[in-house]
Amino acid sequence: MQIHSKLPEVGTTIFTVMSSLAVEHNAVNLGQGFPDFMMNEDLIALVNDAMKKGFNQYVHMNGLPLLRERLAEKVEKLYQTKINYDTQITVTPGGTYAIFTALTTVLQPGDEVIVFEPAYDSYIPNIEINGAKPVLISLKYPDYSIPWEEVKAKVNERTRMIMINSPHNPTGAVLNENDIIQLRNIVADTNIIILSDEVYEHLIFDDIQHQSILRYPDLLERSFVCFSFGKTYHCTGWKLGYCISSAEMMKEYRKVHQFNCFTCDTPKQVALAEYIKNKEAYLSLGSFIQKKRDFFRELMKTTPFKLIPSHGSYFECYSYSHFSNEDDKTLAIRLTKEYGIATIPVSAFYKHATDNKVLRFCFAKKEGTLEKAVAKLKHLH
Ligand code: PMP
Ligand code: GLN
Repeated sequence: MQIHSKLPEVGTTIFTVMSSLAVEHNAVNLGQGFPDFMMNEDLIALVNDAMKKGFNQYVHMNGLPLLRERLAEKVEKLYQTKINYDTQITVTPGGTYAIFTALTTVLQPGDEVIVFEPAYDSYIPNIEINGAKPVLISLKYPDYSIPWEEVKAKVNERTRMIMINSPHNPTGAVLNENDIIQLRNIVADTNIIILSDEVYEHLIFDDIQHQSILRYPDLLERSFVCFSFGKTYHCTGWKLGYCISSAEMMKEYRKVHQFNCFTCDTPKQVALAEYIKNKEAYLSLGSFIQKKRDFFRELMKTTPFKLIPSHGSYFECYSYSHFSNEDDKTLAIRLTKEYGIATIPVSAFYKHATDNKVLRFCFAKKEGTLEKAVAKLKHLH
């Protein structure tokens, strides 16, 4: 049977391609972003407990009320913004789904969405599958900051959304207060909705304050803000996240959500509602992961790669144009096959592959893993 493809230009995601190649060649996987260390044992025990206590049936379609209540308390403590847990938060099966649902809720055929590249690889297909048009703007190389003048120039009456992501995947760039001011000026007096991907909310380094949209009630009124428990609690395989918006926009969001997955994993929500009371678990995350970044940085000094500093996320990018002309995909594949280390070529985060000769490395790994990986790179030629 023939299917008329809705995504004719799309192949298999680079994360799956590189992880499969890593398995095939028994390589150390610094490609796909996931920790190789154990998540918290207490949280595992709480899930087990919840299952034994019988929390195994459908939970409320918007998410376990107690979990949403505690999330609202957390938001108020962290960002001094009061949100209504009943009307403004929906628990989702992961951050990717939270983003897809926001785009599907809003977009009509022909709408334009401003996307900054390099972009997390689900954004553009998610826009296109809704019949809308991604308007691509390259972040300034090499600091990957937003060229706001270009944004202003590209906004028009068809612009429906602007997508932001801080801390940023794949570069680890973070937005500052001035970025928020620029964004506010651009959206003022328009119908533009902001989609803010904040899955790395707590993975921010160097004492930088995360510029969450949740700090700015005037912007939250026109935003969908997406999170992932997988990143916060080192359990990416749980695929659980949530979205926060205004009550009015969330009402529409839930219409889409209820006929897609309807509701998410119950025992994990019960466990998270309890575990989230442990503030240290998320407040200490930045320094915990920063230590890994710093450790990795030191190791990488012994290789020919040139650092592009990351201030957040699981990732740090390195350029290699000073020692090789190879395109980044070819190099990433060669490193996996010949040197036993998998990375992600950053050109994969552009619709029209832009090759600045940069590879992304995931440093959310055990020190031993990072040592093993970098030792392989020392022989690079
Ligand atoms: N956004 C970004 C920027 C990501 O890196 C990821 C990957 N973890 C997600 C969204 C999706 O998170 P999840 O695994 O919860 O779907
Ligand atoms: N967010 C992770 C990354 O960027 C993995 C996501 C995925 O595999 N789809 O590597």
